Amino acid sequence: MNDVLPEEIGCWQRIERAYARTMSLHGYREVRTPFVEETSLFVRAIGDATDVVEKEMYSFEHRGDDLTLRPEGTAGAVRAYLEHSVQGREAVTRWWYAGPMFRAEKPQRGRYRQFSQLGAEIFGDEGPGCDAEMIAMLVEFLRELAIPEIQVVINSLGGPQARSRYRDALVTHLRPREASLSPESQRRLATNPLRILDSKDERDRNAVGDAPGIHEFIDTGDRDHFGKLRAYLDALETPYLVDERLVRGLDYYTSTLFEIRGAHAKLGAGSTLVGGGRYDALVADLGGPAVPAIGFAAGLERLLIASELSPPTSATDALVAPLGEPAIGPGLALAGRLRRYGIRCEIDTRGSSLKSQLRRANQLAVRMVLILGENELADGSVQVKDLEAHTQERMARDQALRVVVDRLMAASRSADAPTRQGPP
Ligand code: AMP
Repeated sequence: MNDVLPEEIGCWQRIERAYARTMSLHGYREVRTPFVEETSLFVRAIGDATDVVEKEMYSFEHRGDDLTLRPEGTAGAVRAYLEHSVQGREAVTRWWYAGPMFRAEKPQRGRYRQFSQLGAEIFGDEGPGCDAEMIAMLVEFLRELAIPEIQVVINSLGGPQARSRYRDALVTHLRPREASLSPESQRRLATNPLRILDSKDERDRNAVGDAPGIHEFIDTGDRDHFGKLRAYLDALETPYLVDERLVRGLDYYTSTLFEIRGAHAKLGAGSTLVGGGRYDALVADLGGPAVPAIGFAAGLERLLIASELSPPTSATDALVAPLGEPAIGPGLALAGRLRRYGIRCEIDTRGSSLKSQLRRANQLAVRMVLILGENELADGSVQVKDLEAHTQERMARDQALRVVVDRLMAASRSADAPTRQGPP
């Protein structure tokens, strides 16, 4: 679990803001669910023979309740959807969320025990058009973050019946090869054989090399859905690969499944940025009506590693520098006026020496320093130092306000600074 220090937060906030914007452009609304849910919710939703449920959940007992820190967002979203009977109010629901998830995994680069996911769910739309729109939206979003080598991989898992037929066929194929499987996969053969397809172990890869593909087992409805998804992705000019071996670690998936990878040089080939798919049976499995659904989750820390955007520039625009105690009051007043125009400013309320305040200005990478010394106090003026233009001028404070706002407004048009009102 990591601390995110203020030096790093600018990159986080930029991705979070871009995500919120993308989602609102596509008609999703934000939902916030608790970080803690009943353990049984995750066991029922994710499946008891999955890595997440078997070994990664932070579960605890509290006064007779079995609780778990959420390892993913879909189970809680479905619980909230049902608890508030949202299906009775709207036919199609598009929700997004962002926040921390918890899994007791072995930490490594891009894999942490508390990590943040940007996710979304669509309830009530069973068509492949909504799958395609979701995937294309994500590709656009990753492009906006300047993530290189974006690669979409899709598959269809069919419905629960097809999955069960395929599971039998896979076990029949693997049983004679059992001795050559990794110990983990030997165990999986009895509990969750589909996961063997996902194994990175060379022994398992050899054993599944000529196993039957799932597409032979899916029914015509799912085949038709998958065909349309491909056609829509083509229409959206979103490139993709079909990988019949793609399975994901959570049991609730049915039909469409996808992963988006990228930045292989930085993250390694196996590292997924986004994982998602349909879970058409989950709402009913959790006690609700039959509502089809699809969702995804992207790992924010991985997006940060993968993104090639340069870090945002300074978070502070101006430093008000009162030299000595008598200047602190007028300095506070001047800083207040600047902030009313949206100028992000810091003031040294200790009245330190000019040298130390200029050092602070450099550290903050501010553009403007407003110095209030004895002379400026006497005639109500201020020294305006522009660290970018390398100029310094003494002027009346009203005029200084205009100059600072003008210069920073011009500079902020392309930057991450908040929108400002017009000059005073
Ligand atoms: P999942 O919920 O397992 O389908 O994962 C969706 C995405 O969340 C992955 O593609 C990763 O980007 C991210 N993710 C999952 N587990 C972790 C973790 N332990 N640390 C960081 N990111 C993770």
